Amino acid sequence: MDLTVRAGDVVETKKPHPCGGRRWEVVRTGAEYKIRCLTCGRTVVLDHDGLAKRLRRGSGEER
Ligand SMILES: [Zn+2]
Repeated sequence: MDLTVRAGDVVETKKPHPCGGRRWEVVRTGAEYKIRCLTCGRTVVLDHDGLAKRLRRGSGEER
């Protein structure tokens, strides 16, 4: 899947974080993607495939 996220983007995941939040800020991109939950502030590091699987389709278009 094509991933077009950049640092600073807000993305939405298919499944909510345990805290109930679905929206994340992209902190860093590259070989690994670091995202921060906007609800609880926790950060998660994922590889490209891991992030691509979690994101809702079309994320990045809505702000
Ligand atoms: Zn959270």
